[in-house]
Amino acid sequence: MSSDRASAGVFMPSWLCPRPVERSRLFELDARLGALGNIAQVLIPLSLVVSAVWLGPWVLLPLIFPVPLFVAMPWLIRRVRQPEWLLLAGILGLGCSLAVSIAMTGGLRSPLVPWAVFIWPGVNARFNRRAGALIIVVISVLMAGAVLVAPPRPPAPAAAVLVCLLAAVVTTAYYTGVLSRAESDQRAAATIDPLTGLLSRAALATRFDDLRREAVQHRWPLSVVVCDIDHFKRVNDTWGHDRGDTVLRAAAATLELGARSSDLLCRFGGEEFILVLPGVPTGEAVEVAERLRAAVAQAEPGGLPVTASFGVSCAYGADIDFAALFRAADAALYRAKAAGRNQVAADAGAEGADPAQAGRPEPVNPR
Ligand code: GH3
Ligand code: MG
Ligand code: MG
Repeated sequence: MSSDRASAGVFMPSWLCPRPVERSRLFELDARLGALGNIAQVLIPLSLVVSAVWLGPWVLLPLIFPVPLFVAMPWLIRRVRQPEWLLLAGILGLGCSLAVSIAMTGGLRSPLVPWAVFIWPGVNARFNRRAGALIIVVISVLMAGAVLVAPPRPPAPAAAVLVCLLAAVVTTAYYTGVLSRAESDQRAAATIDPLTGLLSRAALATRFDDLRREAVQHRWPLSVVVCDIDHFKRVNDTWGHDRGDTVLRAAAATLELGARSSDLLCRFGGEEFILVLPGVPTGEAVEVAERLRAAVAQAEPGGLPVTASFGVSCAYGADIDFAALFRAADAALYRAKAAGRNQVAADAGAEGADPAQAGRPEPVNPR
């Protein structure tokens, strides 16, 4: 139980952390706060010590427990199998000592009341909903009890109120700032491919749905172009993986330059890219793909004579389905590869899907 190997071993689920992702979330905030940057660990004790001058020794109770536990936490979490219970004990301990301190320094009028609010950004960032609900119930009961049993006291001096309020405001602002930065970093990581800066495969699904809805509503065609770098394995094998990465970045930049702002360009995986062209019928999509093919060959991405092959598919209105469009474009790409690479091939059935041929109005190209 208490060895380095204990925590490094197999994940042991608990009521607080049923899945590994919940365990890692527990300490993600601390990693982001950093050892020196954790303003709370300095401001909380400091404000308590300063306000004790006016409010008396009860204010110092949280310094006895749980502050030492939180200070030891980075050391403890590497030695305990289920550190979530320690964290929960620390937070509930903070609730208890805060409740006693609030009760003994004026109840509702205590300058320590804002600290009861400060706990929440940290709790919500670390615990799942059921643990959060448990903590809310326990702390609410403790605070209500503190207010009810508080012996009458004269109002606290304004200086004490100000010190506690400022410490709570600064710490809360710091915590919420760190959390919102973490949230925007995660959102960017989920939507942007880190190597090329293009949209990621995960983000494509959501954006594609929007384009599909629009195409159904306006009866536009929607084309999909799949692009795959030719003999890319040889690039890695001959010039190394880093040079391969440079080629991928340069090829992505060339494709991005050739795409229009209304198109969706994404790195679908490895050396494969997908371009979604809303409002573009097959013939025009083939022209776009041909232009991109020539641009890649001419650009010599990464300083190497690299080429790419392209497969094109198209569908209209309610027939637009990403999986089917991708299958058709991928089959066309396969034919382009088989025919010698560095070329564009279109899905044979794509033109037949054009509603103009079925007597429906000519699709409107939004560009
Ligand atoms: P083809 O012309 O038939 O497409 O041949 P290919 O060599 O391009 O295709 P294959 O699927 O055999 O090889 C793709 C290679 O791409 C294999 C893989 O190691 C490499 N690759 C995938 N992702 C990355 C990456 O992020 N960076 C680098 N440098 N290489 C990658
Ligand atoms: Mg390839
Ligand atoms: Mg490939």
